[in-house]
Amino acid sequence: MIRKRPIIAIDGPVGAGKSVAARELARALGFSYLNTGAMYRAVAIAAREAGISPDDPNVEERLASVLKGIKIKFDGEKILLNGRDVTAMKDDPEIGELASRFSAIGSVRMRMRDLQRAAGADGGVVMEGRDIGTAIFPDAEFKFFLDADVKTRAHRRYEELKKKGASITEDEVLEQLVERDRRDSGRELAPLKRADDATVIDSTNLSIDAVVAAMKAKINDRNNAGKDLKRA
Ligand code: C5P
Repeated sequence: MIRKRPIIAIDGPVGAGKSVAARELARALGFSYLNTGAMYRAVAIAAREAGISPDDPNVEERLASVLKGIKIKFDGEKILLNGRDVTAMKDDPEIGELASRFSAIGSVRMRMRDLQRAAGADGGVVMEGRDIGTAIFPDAEFKFFLDADVKTRAHRRYEELKKKGASITEDEVLEQLVERDRRDSGRELAPLKRADDATVIDSTNLSIDAVVAAMKAKINDRNNAGKDLKRA
């Protein structure tokens, strides 16, 4: 498939720095930015409000009506679920946990896949998540896998949560993160894993600026098109 402007896929585990790097890269290139984790979080919010648990024996059946008409829109930093601003709820650790559990369900993944493919079809997008380079756009022109040492990731996540006023210890954050990594990597459907053709960037000892610079260098290097991408 020929796209006028490329798709840039950024995958990786919690706390590797995907969101900040993806947003910054999109801004630098004049591309749009899609945070697919936020979409799974929106599903978790919708499901919780409908009283559905990921453990329900008939969970797919119960989710069908939630998924059918779901509208997830982004407005700058805001996320709108069926027209309602749910930004404040999105970062609740419980929602992250629920998102991870609902994201292992086939009908949820299929619905998100369709929405994500529609959103990225024309290219000119930086899309971040767990399975963008492997399952959503395996033909993405650029793929990055952003990783970091688990303790560093937990520390970053802890600092983020602390800023938002969450009452949680760093050890608890580490424990939850290890569990989420295990679940995201171990699930049957579109597990978190590096695409064979992805460029790995380890952000353990890198600033966000350095991560973005490494991505830009790779993009420029591959087709010498950093400026052209912006103009196209
Ligand atoms: O990126 P974030 O931590 O907000 O994602 C929340 C959860 O959504 C992840 O733990 C993961 O289980 C799920 N997710 C996914 N596929 C994606 C993005 C997120 O399964 N592309």
